[in-house]
Amino acid sequence: MSKKTSIDHEDQSQPNNFFWNIIRYVIIVILLVAGIWYYYSQKPRFLTAQEIRGMTMGTDYSVKVADFVKGTKHDVWKNIETQIQQRIEGIDRAMSTYRTDSEVSRFNNSDSADWFEVSKDTAEVVNTALEISQLTEGAFDITVSPLVDLWGFGVKQQLDLTVKDLEEKTNQIKSKIGYDKLEVRLQPPALKKSIPELRIDLSAIAKGYAVDCVAILLEENGFTNFIVEIGGEVCCRGRKGIAANYKATSHDWIIGIEKPFIVSSDGISGLQRKLSIGDRALATSGDYQNYREINGVRYSHFIDPRTGFPTEYLVAGEPKPVERLGSVSVLTKRCVYADAWATALFVLGEHKGLELAEKHGIAVLFLFRTEQNDQPIREAASTTFPK
Ligand code: FAD
Repeated sequence: MSKKTSIDHEDQSQPNNFFWNIIRYVIIVILLVAGIWYYYSQKPRFLTAQEIRGMTMGTDYSVKVADFVKGTKHDVWKNIETQIQQRIEGIDRAMSTYRTDSEVSRFNNSDSADWFEVSKDTAEVVNTALEISQLTEGAFDITVSPLVDLWGFGVKQQLDLTVKDLEEKTNQIKSKIGYDKLEVRLQPPALKKSIPELRIDLSAIAKGYAVDCVAILLEENGFTNFIVEIGGEVCCRGRKGIAANYKATSHDWIIGIEKPFIVSSDGISGLQRKLSIGDRALATSGDYQNYREINGVRYSHFIDPRTGFPTEYLVAGEPKPVERLGSVSVLTKRCVYADAWATALFVLGEHKGLELAEKHGIAVLFLFRTEQNDQPIREAASTTFPK
């Protein structure tokens, strides 16, 4: 009997057990989901890779950030975006020779030999420029501005001059340039010229400085994984693989160095190198995008201050060299130095340039092309440049 009762009791209790088991499982699932939701709501959320693109200094710029931020991600990002745009715009407004009201243009147009007040940014850039001038024995010289214009690469371009006119005028203007005619004071920031005609052109250094400023701004706001690029001058921090929407094959930021072929404006010449540069900056100066041809002779936009002529200046009628320096890429901690050194080392050329780069521990890559673009690119690098 008792056995029967027992059997009866079991039979009756089965649906009840089943019901309570279901309830139990549902509660467990709800608690689990709530726990996961709570965990993720407390964790910093992924800010998917953000990017700003725009135009500045006659070229384009881009900033990509792969960090994540906590909570109000869009507000944070919008705020940073505005700060970046204002920082870049401020540098352009102060240092552009393409704006008549910039500090640099007003200094250039001033005849006064007194101190001329400028912003801290402009004084810092000029101070770095003078430092590089000394280190490169004058190969880098921001006072070449009148010659840049004369040869048709600046704001006041004179494109109708014959080669003979250009040679004559170069020899006249040469005595009016020289970084020894320029002084800078950091506190309070000001510039001074010793001859009224002295003019400066920060085209070879200001973009690098602006890249550094954007990097500093991002770091001050807690970002550690980003890439900043203005007109080919670039600086990296951290890694790109961290952002949710980067399906990266490599987690490092990878920078390409173009083959320095002369190509049509829509042509793509391909990459010579792809590099992971770590937390550093890379700047490239080349003659393959910005050049002029007069009577079949090509002139680069780099002025050799020692001669007053564009580098690799070729006298019409003389045989063209088989090989030409096409670009110089410099890898440094700060982009302002990479930018300026790349121009200086282009002016100095392979032999003297490599000697100076080794002396100062500069990581540099020289790329050479043949005149017909038909041979492989030759490389020459300092010992510290990545293999
Ligand atoms: P880099 O290799 O970085 O520099 C080469 C330039 O440096 C030359 O073009 C020449 O100007 C100068 N240079 C030549 N020889 C020497 C030397 N021995 N030492 C030092 N410098 C030398 N362009 C526009 O078309 N429109 C604009 O509105 C405009 N605004 C600008 C605003 C600012 C603040 C700056 C810095 C540049 C601006 N530019 C503008 C110029 C344009 O972006 C230049 O073409 C660019 O700066 C040159 O950079 P690059 O990378 O081609 O060459």
